[in-house]
Amino acid sequence: MKMMTVRLMKFPYPYRAAVTICSDIDGTSFENFMIIHEFLNSGKETVLGRGLNLPIGDSFWMYDMDGNPDAAFSYFEGYTAKESKYAPYIRDFIKAGVIDVMHSYGNFSEHNKFSREHAIRAINELDRHSIKLGVWTNHGGLTNVQNLGANSVGYGDVPQSDYYHADLLLEYGVKFYWDSELSLHTNVGQDASSRYGDAYWHSTLYGTPIEYMKYSLKGLLSYADELQQIISSRKLIAGKRFNSLENELIIEEQLRDGSAIHRFKRFGQGRYDWSDDLPRLVNIAFLDKLVEKRGYSIVYIHLGDRKIKSDTRPLSRSTVDAFTLLADYYQLGKVWVSNTSTILRYNFIRKNLEWCTRIVDDTLIIDINGLKSPHKDFVVTSDDIQGISFLCLEGCANIVVQLNNQVQKDIIEYSDNTGRRIITVPNRDIEWPLI
Ligand SMILES: [Zn+2]
Repeated sequence: MKMMTVRLMKFPYPYRAAVTICSDIDGTSFENFMIIHEFLNSGKETVLGRGLNLPIGDSFWMYDMDGNPDAAFSYFEGYTAKESKYAPYIRDFIKAGVIDVMHSYGNFSEHNKFSREHAIRAINELDRHSIKLGVWTNHGGLTNVQNLGANSVGYGDVPQSDYYHADLLLEYGVKFYWDSELSLHTNVGQDASSRYGDAYWHSTLYGTPIEYMKYSLKGLLSYADELQQIISSRKLIAGKRFNSLENELIIEEQLRDGSAIHRFKRFGQGRYDWSDDLPRLVNIAFLDKLVEKRGYSIVYIHLGDRKIKSDTRPLSRSTVDAFTLLADYYQLGKVWVSNTSTILRYNFIRKNLEWCTRIVDDTLIIDINGLKSPHKDFVVTSDDIQGISFLCLEGCANIVVQLNNQVQKDIIEYSDNTGRRIITVPNRDIEWPLI
């Protein structure tokens, strides 16, 4: 009998790292959203240049009021149940994957505006249109009582609260959430090896000598702080010290009502979260470091919110250039780019995949049997295994991938430059839904 060595690859072949832009919708007009995403998601000639065909998604709000701070377009008019003129577009964008994140239910900028009724209405409306979203990011400050998690200022997952809605949200299908700046990291590459300095003096975020010195000092002080706290239990510096041993992209945890959820990390910094900051976040140093570390990065930004208000273009020239650079790395097969929900789903499925191999006659069969414990109840579909890739070090005449004993028909086989065979389940593209 032939010996067969098969490895589950870290990223969809041929990529060596994964990145997405996870933008909060604050301050984005519908007109700018259309211009930005036609440029990102289509291959058409647009006002920002030739479209990049980049599968990058975005977030949205069900509720917002004209005149609110950071107002954007929303599904309903104000906080009412009346559908806005944007609702049909939002539905089409969600179905296409151009929108894949709920940036909470909405922009509740005043006290006592959000209620559980808003959550019920939003979820019923999405369900009525068979629209599923799996990712939630918290938004805003104290008035956004809908926010989730012990690190937020909200009560959305506190069962005793009038604002409780996490039961509805998780039953609807949200599996991943981002809570607060404590889940915002400055080191490049999650699910990759990391050293303490990566969050400070080795971070690609700090380009100028002053920033470099400032954040190096912050790193050193944070380190000293730990010693100081041990001695006197007093803190020298605000914030949490970076722990290089806790660098997972996704953390399994419980909300305050005891329900299981996955919290994810984003890359960035609260000071550098405007659209104009994208070149600071995504540049050659960042992308090369991400490839070198073979890491994941979910980049935190507000793509539709310009820092330089005198410039009325939807994106600055240098932000357009940063996206063009990202498209180059993607097209060269170095960095996998997709929307947030796809990257999170792939990471979760790959990490927990239960699979084995067997040889029948001259055929290697790779059997995927669902997920490992404690996720055995998760029903894995062919959609869920998109991107999953196996490296086969020795050959059989045929290689077959089976999911729950069903042969997967659309797999692709490659051979690399050393003749090794790679089997991959292709990712489905995000297509710009408008003509
Ligand atoms: Zn926000």
